[in-house]
Amino acid sequence: MHTLELNEPASKSKIFADMIQQSTDAMIYTTPDFTINFVNRTAEEMFGWTLPEIKGKPISIFHENDMTWEQKKEMFSNLYSGKAHEVEGISKRKDGSTFYCQIKISPLFTEKSRIYGYLGIIRDITEEKQNEDSLIKEIDLLTGLIGTARVIVAVLDRQGKIVYYNPHMEKLSGYELKEVKGENWFSRFIPGIEKEKIKSAFKKAIAGHPTEGNINPIVTKEGNEVIVEWYDTALKDDNGEVTGLLAIGNDITQRVEAEEKLKTIYENMPGGILMIGHDYIIKDVNYRTCEITGYKREELVGQLCDIVCPKGSASKKCPIWEEGEEGFRGMDTTIKCKNGRKKPILKNAQEITINGDKYILELFQDISERKNAEENAIEAKKAAEQANRSKSEFLANMSHELRTPLNSVIGFSDILSKEVRGELNDPQKKYVSNIAKSGNHLLSLINDILDLSKVEAGKMELEYSSFDLHEVLDEISILTKPLTSKKSIDLQMDLPPEDIRVYADRKKFKQIMYNLLSNASKFTPDKGTITIIANQEKDELKVAVSDTGIGIPEADRATIFEPFQQVKSSKSSEHKGTGLGLSLVRELVEMHGGQVGLKSEVGKGSTFTFTIPDKPTTN
Ligand code: ADP
Repeated sequence: MHTLELNEPASKSKIFADMIQQSTDAMIYTTPDFTINFVNRTAEEMFGWTLPEIKGKPISIFHENDMTWEQKKEMFSNLYSGKAHEVEGISKRKDGSTFYCQIKISPLFTEKSRIYGYLGIIRDITEEKQNEDSLIKEIDLLTGLIGTARVIVAVLDRQGKIVYYNPHMEKLSGYELKEVKGENWFSRFIPGIEKEKIKSAFKKAIAGHPTEGNINPIVTKEGNEVIVEWYDTALKDDNGEVTGLLAIGNDITQRVEAEEKLKTIYENMPGGILMIGHDYIIKDVNYRTCEITGYKREELVGQLCDIVCPKGSASKKCPIWEEGEEGFRGMDTTIKCKNGRKKPILKNAQEITINGDKYILELFQDISERKNAEENAIEAKKAAEQANRSKSEFLANMSHELRTPLNSVIGFSDILSKEVRGELNDPQKKYVSNIAKSGNHLLSLINDILDLSKVEAGKMELEYSSFDLHEVLDEISILTKPLTSKKSIDLQMDLPPEDIRVYADRKKFKQIMYNLLSNASKFTPDKGTITIIANQEKDELKVAVSDTGIGIPEADRATIFEPFQQVKSSKSSEHKGTGLGLSLVRELVEMHGGQVGLKSEVGKGSTFTFTIPDKPTTN
């Protein structure tokens, strides 16, 4: 203890007054009713008031807020029992601004132990308070982050003992921290086969080499493995000594599973996949690519893509790299296989970006089988067409050869029936007439066959001319008169009054009409009606031949236009015919670029229609 030694004559009160004025703490002396009696210089500076301005004013002029009843009670109980009362609060300056301060109020006693006043010592703690606030915020933030983060945060000591881990690790592992605190991390969480590898990573991190992206599993309480990606850093104390390890881990089990699923799909895709880098080097292939090309994966990966490119070694000219094309789809090309053969493939290619690097992704299908099937089908079609042409040519030739002798059969039977060379008796007449009838029937059959095969063999040509419809129909009605009048059939025409010009092969047009009209009269009972209706519609002529005949069952409507097809009903088969008339009608109409149609009701009649376009089409 030092005693105050006075060299200069100065009173103790002067010394104390000086000490008070020089103090860096603000001091306020109040009377027992808290009226300000004295403030030192620091207090004047702190609050912005001068002593004369505030002497005699209540201490409350320094208060930002009134004290609560509780606070007052606590303060007086301290002061009356002779203790100093310490409090932190907000004070107000003369200019109204505020600051944080720490106040220590001490009661001052007379010798007779009566309170004669109070001494307040005030310290501005605004800065400390701000630091503290931000620290508190930081701590709150950190604990909040670590507590709620969906990452593992674990702290191990230098030996690998568990010091801390966060709630996320508790949830993942199934172990609460308190259950395993102090245990060895590796024995608790790391599966046997991984232990050595992970221990050496731990040692590296402890030695000050942070490790990033190590992937290893931990075993949970339930015995499952969770795959975690780790980021490890050594923890150091203020002297730089390593005290332990901070490990941050990400549960990537789902990501790994998804990657494995994708990998399985990738490998088992029905098509091949090639990934090619900007340097034209193959970076990856799937299993199917190996199957298609016959190469092993390691024989392809790392090679120039020329190895499979049909263009060969000068190929480095991919339009995606060289011309900036985005990709192409459905390219019909080939792939070079290990055995040197080229297989036909259908290829899509596209530029993709992985981790900032650009690649070409090629997806392709082996279409060898499809190509073979296509080629076979084309061959088969060619062969069938050839066979059909040969048949038609054969029939055309045969028919021609048959007609000559047949004409002499008919001609000589005609001469015989005219009895120019002598009379015939009745049975002879009957036989000759039979020969003539059969000969004529055979001739019309051969004529139809000849026409039809000419069409099919592509040897029939149309001779277009422009003619008047009324005129041609009049000619036809005269031609069919013997057929209609024999059965008293009424042939009517329903035509527009004005002239209609038709541009077609006149002879063939008449043949179409004749075939339809002769069918109509064949299959219409006596006293029936046949109507020819013709209209010019848009850019074609539409002609209909309607009858009140026996009609055609629905089942036969599609087939009667085929050669030799006839309706099999008893009524229909009473009529002799070749089954070629309608086929010829259809062929001739289609040669003109028109279409045939049929509507019919059994027992009521049929309507055959056909169209002839105004302008000939190349069909
Ligand atoms: P064909 O008359 O020589 O037998 P088509 O090819 O001209 O040969 O006719 C095929 C079949 O269609 C006929 O046998 C007949 O059964 C049926 N048919 C054709 N036209 C008519 C019609 N107007 N009314 C009823 N049936 C018809």
